[in-house]
Amino acid sequence: MNKKIRFFQSINFKIAIVFILLLMITLEIIGAYFVKQLEQQNIETFKQQVQTPVYVNNQLSNQLLKSNTATANKAIANILSDLNNSADIRVVDSKGTVRGTSDLNDQGVVGQKTTDNNIKNVLYNNRSYQTLSYDEKSHASYYVSIVPLVNPNSDSSSIVGVIYVRANMQSVYRNINNITLIFLTASLVAALFSSIIAVVISRAITRPIDEMKKQAIRMSRGDYSGQVRIYGRDELGQLAVAVNNLSVRVEEAQEASEAERRRLDSVLSHMTDGVISTDRRGNVIIINEAAAEFLNLNDEEVIGQSILKILKIEADHTIRDLLENQTELMLDFSAPEHSLILHAEFSLIQRETGFISGIVCVLHDVTEQQKNERERRQFVSNVSHELRTPLTSMRSYLEALTDGAWKDPEVAPNFLHVTQEETERMIRMINDLLSLSRMDSGTVKLDMELVNLNELFNYTLNRFDMMIKSDVTSSDNNRTEANVTKKYSLKREFTKRDLWVEIDTDKFMQVVDNIINNAIKYSPDGGVITCRLLETNNHVILSISDQGLGIPKKDLPHVFDRFYRVDKARSRAQGGTGLGLAISKEVIERLNGRIWVDSKEGKGSTFYISLPYQEAYEEDDLWDEN
Ligand code: ADP
Repeated sequence: MNKKIRFFQSINFKIAIVFILLLMITLEIIGAYFVKQLEQQNIETFKQQVQTPVYVNNQLSNQLLKSNTATANKAIANILSDLNNSADIRVVDSKGTVRGTSDLNDQGVVGQKTTDNNIKNVLYNNRSYQTLSYDEKSHASYYVSIVPLVNPNSDSSSIVGVIYVRANMQSVYRNINNITLIFLTASLVAALFSSIIAVVISRAITRPIDEMKKQAIRMSRGDYSGQVRIYGRDELGQLAVAVNNLSVRVEEAQEASEAERRRLDSVLSHMTDGVISTDRRGNVIIINEAAAEFLNLNDEEVIGQSILKILKIEADHTIRDLLENQTELMLDFSAPEHSLILHAEFSLIQRETGFISGIVCVLHDVTEQQKNERERRQFVSNVSHELRTPLTSMRSYLEALTDGAWKDPEVAPNFLHVTQEETERMIRMINDLLSLSRMDSGTVKLDMELVNLNELFNYTLNRFDMMIKSDVTSSDNNRTEANVTKKYSLKREFTKRDLWVEIDTDKFMQVVDNIINNAIKYSPDGGVITCRLLETNNHVILSISDQGLGIPKKDLPHVFDRFYRVDKARSRAQGGTGLGLAISKEVIERLNGRIWVDSKEGKGSTFYISLPYQEAYEEDDLWDEN
């Protein structure tokens, strides 16, 4: 950009040359006119000088009129010699005879007939004749004048002869040449001085321009620090002020746009949504971190690639599609390890003129949303299904009863018992669903209190012991009627220390009840159920192990799902709703704890509950009691 300008290309040179040329042309025109004028003037003066005066002509005419030729010739010779004239003068009479000459060395021509045709013409026409002629031999210009001599005494201009003057004009031309030479020398000197002045002046003009040029180059490189020196208040000075102002403005604008860019950058990079921006052809120009992470791509390798390719939609869509329909798309980027569903929204970057300069694609992670939606649908279908089964079975029993079975004392009570059981199971299920829904909507308020877990667990287990002894059904949560006749024993392995934890006692007891009930439900007759309580650094862990049929490995991750049952028929037969463990999980998580299961098929299962625990509770409490 900053190519060195050669001197001949510079404004400096151009201004100087214009100055000089102007000066030369002016000088030449003036000179030519002046020399021409001078030349004419000099020739005129010369002509007048060599022309013989009128009185001499009259004298000569008088002599030519005389009849005595010899005396007349003498008189003519005297008149001619008296003339102080450098020209060659001859007097010719009307008959064409030379009567006198001023040339002393050529007196021989006197008396001879002239051969000059010009003289003859003048004699004949009685009209004077002038000419400038060039003599090749002597290399000189001559002025020739032939004037008729008329009789001064006669009114009619009767011609008596001519006077012939021939003058060498060399002196005139020499004079003119000398003047021209002086003029040329003077012009050369003037040209020399004026070129020096022109260069100096044009330097003065171009220096500020040069500085401004340099400043502009610096500005284009992004250096706005310099300021142009202001040399004067003329137009160039004003231009320099304008350049300085411009430099400040551009710097400000540059800073503002840089700040804007940084802000946009930081907004883009902190967005959780992915943003991809492309040019008109759909090639990526900007991609933010979130988008790169979603697509598992490095932003450098993405720049310049087609958006269709990186979104893997080139098979079904074209850039034209996106430009014309600005569609929304659901893109499945799930990998074996994790699922990822993206909602892609396309919009156009359009100028006011309607010119489309690119596409912006916003990627939103809707995996969770989709999962929830799927689960919700699954849940509704499960609930419908779960309620339909007992209702259909009840309907068939009731139909049988209405069709006459009510009269049969053998079957009627049994049928009625089944319908009652189904009704109760539905009520249990609906109650379970209600408490789950309350927990989902967050309307359940936990009634937290500091409890000694040893005591609470002991108390719960004592209730189950009592049931064994009394053989009565606990109706606390209506979950245990299937365990009525089963024999089992409870074994305790508790830590000796009191473990104080903050929980909602009622809800926690429901969870423990549910797990023990399940343990009894899925245990063989006479099975041992081992209940343990221990503490780690910051957790208490409560576990309940049975010797039942266990849970197959593939079902383990799902037993806490709503309505999930390993063996549907069996669970239903035992009055289960498939919601107990789901509720337990919700409760424990609300208490900031964790619930999980470990099981060996055919050997038994162990359910664990861990709760956050701080030793300080205990000491604080003891302190309070004291
Ligand atoms: P249900 O009302 O069917 O017992 P839960 O949510 O309490 O529903 O239990 C879900 C499923 O987990 C049960 O249907 C059962 O298949 C399995 N399960 C729960 N506890 C045990 C256990 N102690 N031994 C074996 N399977 C169990």
